[in-house]
Amino acid sequence: MSKVLCVLYDDPVDGYPKSYPRNDLPKLKNYPNGQTMPTPSAIDFEPGVLLGCVSGELGLRKFLEDRGHSLVVTSDKDGANSAFDRELADAEIVISQPFWPAYLTEERIAKAPNLKLAITAGIGSDHVDLQAAMEGNITVAEVTFCNSISVSEHVLMMILSLVRNYIPSYQQVVAGGWNIADCVTRSYDLEGMQVGTVAAGRIGLAVLRRLKPFDVGLHYTDRHRLPVETERELNLTYHPSVEDMVRVCDVVTINCPLHPQTENLFDEAMIGRMKRGAFLVNTARGKICNRDAVARALESGQLAGYAGDVWFPQPAPKDHPWRSMSHHGMTPHISGSSLSAQTRYAAGTREILECWFDGRPIRDEYLIVAGGRLAGAGAHSYSPGDATKGSDEAARFRG
Ligand code: NDP
Repeated sequence: MSKVLCVLYDDPVDGYPKSYPRNDLPKLKNYPNGQTMPTPSAIDFEPGVLLGCVSGELGLRKFLEDRGHSLVVTSDKDGANSAFDRELADAEIVISQPFWPAYLTEERIAKAPNLKLAITAGIGSDHVDLQAAMEGNITVAEVTFCNSISVSEHVLMMILSLVRNYIPSYQQVVAGGWNIADCVTRSYDLEGMQVGTVAAGRIGLAVLRRLKPFDVGLHYTDRHRLPVETERELNLTYHPSVEDMVRVCDVVTINCPLHPQTENLFDEAMIGRMKRGAFLVNTARGKICNRDAVARALESGQLAGYAGDVWFPQPAPKDHPWRSMSHHGMTPHISGSSLSAQTRYAAGTREILECWFDGRPIRDEYLIVAGGRLAGAGAHSYSPGDATKGSDEAARFRG
């Protein structure tokens, strides 16, 4: 029997919801590329309820306990005396969401001799030291595609809200004001701008598709080029490097995973190559952008706006400069955790667990690390190494 340790974000401050604003969710058959939705044998939750917080338990307790496994759920994940650290010692499976990541560093992996499987309930397994997982023969899996479209919608929202200066204008209303000039001095139309994505994977391509009707110039860079029909259909300009692309873009959106090749990619030099007054939207991972370089570029006017929902570490310390820098449109890490997305990644997590316990293969597209090497989606999109360094700073949020 296995011990499953699940790290989830805190419940709402007013307690677990008793009702929701809507009665149902749209029923989707497939993801846009034809990949099937998660296929567990059953689910023990109502689609549309809050699953990603401690009381939501990803809807897993009944399933796990019926099979004789134990489930420990906690939000206390940072610092040496955290519940996560204590419970990890004899856990076989760790489940964590990128929104409230349980950083599985080399040190923690060394203290978890029974650990065999790390599941990301979501997409993006950079909170696991993938190098240490490979060396320790730990399988790492995520629920590929579960929230890619959720994020692409968030990206569009953030591009429009930055370019059109939505947030300060909203604040003007809430504060009882009506100074149109204050609102529009930084407000533009997106139409005609050049918009580029770093990576055209599931999210990046969905962003490009959603931007097409806005009559913008569309650009992308990626390690693998899209099929020529897709490039023609969307009238895309391909750039062989990020450097090439950012020079010509008014808006840049980052949609690649965090791994050693992309860590600190948007440093002072890269931001310096962007057009003056460009907008940068990062919903991929905080560490892809240099924290201080972004804040300085907003101050100097090199960037006209920065938005995203990803930080490093998470939760971000109260004095993280991105909370207070000018012209930002940051949210906490929420884009991939809509109620719609939670339904899919909770079901996908259960699918992975069922495969694991029944000795069936986990879908190749869900795998990041298996058999001591990058596998499946991980082999395509990541590079070997570790991106968790510095994550211990997350303990400062509560402290
Ligand atoms: P995909 O695997 O479909 O796409 C990732 C793309 O990034 C691939 O096309 C890959 O290229 C490309 N890529 C990898 N390294 C580089 C590089 N060095 N330069 C250029 N391109 C690169 O994943 P998704 O689109 O679904 O998700 C992407 C990332 O978004 C996740 O890894 C995660 O970090 C983040 N995310 C954030 C969420 C949120 O809530 N904010 C939720 C979901 C994801 P190729 O495979 O061609 O080598």
